[in-house]
Amino acid sequence: MSLLVVGSVAFDAMESPYGKVDRALGGAATYFAVAASFFTHVNLVGIVGDDFTEVDAQIFRGRTIDIDGLERATGKTFFWAGRYSENLNERVTLTTELNVFAAFKPKLPEKYRNSKFVFLTNIAPDLQRDVLHQVKVRPKLAALDTMNYWIERTNAELRETLKHVDILMINDSETRELSNEHNLLRAAKHIFKMGPTTLVVKRGEYGAMMVDKRGVFCVPAFPLEEPHDPTGAGDSFAGGFMGYLAGCGDKSDAALRRAMVYGSVLGSFAVEKFGLDRLRHLKRNEIHARARHFAKLTQFKL
Ligand code: AMP
Repeated sequence: MSLLVVGSVAFDAMESPYGKVDRALGGAATYFAVAASFFTHVNLVGIVGDDFTEVDAQIFRGRTIDIDGLERATGKTFFWAGRYSENLNERVTLTTELNVFAAFKPKLPEKYRNSKFVFLTNIAPDLQRDVLHQVKVRPKLAALDTMNYWIERTNAELRETLKHVDILMINDSETRELSNEHNLLRAAKHIFKMGPTTLVVKRGEYGAMMVDKRGVFCVPAFPLEEPHDPTGAGDSFAGGFMGYLAGCGDKSDAALRRAMVYGSVLGSFAVEKFGLDRLRHLKRNEIHARARHFAKLTQFKL
């Protein structure tokens, strides 16, 4: 089933102990769409400037990604720069130049308005809600990511948008900030009162945790000897997770658990190289082999 994603398409600069890249294609919607396209058809809504060339667009071509919803505006594409600490666990944002993204008003092409699965990456909560309003029939599954910036500055708007989504997918510090609860299980209970019925907490090298009324499910991060660049790992996780669900058109407990594993698989590939370099050349058989590896990794007898 078709999967709609809305969010940033960007140029990124990253520095980590493993190297430095001055300008690489990135953006939350880009990582998400590429990761999800291994499982399903993706409809992408975003905005780029006139510095975004046909060579840049190649990342979407030859995949099941529709970019008729990628608006081209006069000016520069969103630019983000970040630097990672020695252990890659901490990141400082060095630059955020919104450029054409500052005036982004997502507009869904008619053919996207029947999307059954929707993912709203980290943008202003009002814009996220506006996207949901443009989808004609309530999607089978709508999920949302956000960040501390929106939790702090537009809390009321975010809470309004949360009433309309099924899954909230954020990291652990954002979960704590939004709920005012340190304990993640208690935080989940608070968040369920805001609207979502499922909380997926991304915990970087500690994996991810899903909480819903049926209970808790955890997946580890794939142990890697040499992760290079964590940029986009969360968005790739989200793409693997939502892509898997949209691909099988299922949202049962069993499917959600498998989606957690495919999310972790895509996130692990994303960090192996800088920017999109690893996802760009990834093959489906590598994804399934790593998913089997996850099964082995977590298997035990009692
Ligand atoms: P992540 O590592 O999952 O936080 O995602 C990193 C990606 O998000 C990068 O490719 C950036 O271009 C993009 N990004 C960074 N800051 C923002 C922002 N404020 N709004 C939208 N996208 C952003």
